[in-house]
Amino acid sequence: MAGKVSTIGVLTSGGDAPGMNAAIRAVVRSAIVHGKKVKGIKKGYSGLMAGEIVDMNAKSVSDIIQRGGTILQTARCEEMYTAEGVEQAAKSCKENDIDALVVIGGDGSFRGMKEISSYGINTVGIPGTIDLDISCTEYTIGFDTAVNTAMEAIDKVRDTSTSHERCSIIEVMGRHAGYIALWCGLANGAEDILLPEKYDYDEQKLVDHIIENRKRGKKHHIIINAEGIGRSIGMAQRIEAATGLETRATILGHMQRGGNPTCKDRVYATTMGCYAVDIICQGKTNRVVAYKDGDFTDFDIEEALGQKKEISEYQYRISKELSI
Ligand code: ATP
Repeated sequence: MAGKVSTIGVLTSGGDAPGMNAAIRAVVRSAIVHGKKVKGIKKGYSGLMAGEIVDMNAKSVSDIIQRGGTILQTARCEEMYTAEGVEQAAKSCKENDIDALVVIGGDGSFRGMKEISSYGINTVGIPGTIDLDISCTEYTIGFDTAVNTAMEAIDKVRDTSTSHERCSIIEVMGRHAGYIALWCGLANGAEDILLPEKYDYDEQKLVDHIIENRKRGKKHHIIINAEGIGRSIGMAQRIEAATGLETRATILGHMQRGGNPTCKDRVYATTMGCYAVDIICQGKTNRVVAYKDGDFTDFDIEEALGQKKEISEYQYRISKELSI
């Protein structure tokens, strides 16, 4: 159980994700409704250590629910991997009267949060990452927007690919997690999907599949490649040489992180922001907010970080079956 909370700090950490602003807005306004003070911490743990902390009020978060990125900015902070860094972050919380900390970020950010909590700061994490790779939750802020952005871009590449009867390799984000690639593969009807979790990449098999599909009369061949496998440009050159078919690589990159959040990202991020404040007010600490089995819930941080999230075998299998 946590001690009594008067001031809640909020920060965003790791990669930015559309919908983070909706979560910040919900945390700030919900905290005010519960009679708490709120402080915004700039640039994740780096800003916390440097004391880049500002008072927030209801107005500080007006006109942001529809915006991508994060008004608090975000960072990756190397010092947090050291005991001194964690101690400095906890000291800064105390110096700024922050007795509860809401961290919006990915699993790395939650590991940092767990370290800070050992100094007696109450902590709650909100899953904010376009990668959807946090095991305890079926939803993370930003995935829906990112996957829709990628899907629309891939539709456009597909149009021109069909017109020119090309093979297209489209690289989407996901260094360790292939959710964006798998979802785009299904949503865009890709012929092949390459995922970091399924690294059985066999270029000869890919070449054979392209030739086989061309014989069947397919006018394009779309390969969705996850960032974790990468090397799309070299792959395109080798495939073109092996098949004799014009093959182009498109790397979607950071465009997938930006843009106005979808309705789902706004609504879920808002709900999670309010939920985080609710459980802080109930005296809970060291929790991660989640969406599981059709409802919002929360998990102990150890449990949240303990399991590895697997890709859906069923969806991976049907993506292959449907690419005939
Ligand atoms: P994304 O999914 O967007 O990559 P993330 O939160 O997983 O988000 P990381 O770069 O893994 O991104 O972590 C963000 C920050 O959290 C790190 O820069 C570091 O400051 C802190 N952090 C990560 N892992 C730990 C850890 N084991 N101990 C302490 N702090 C950590």
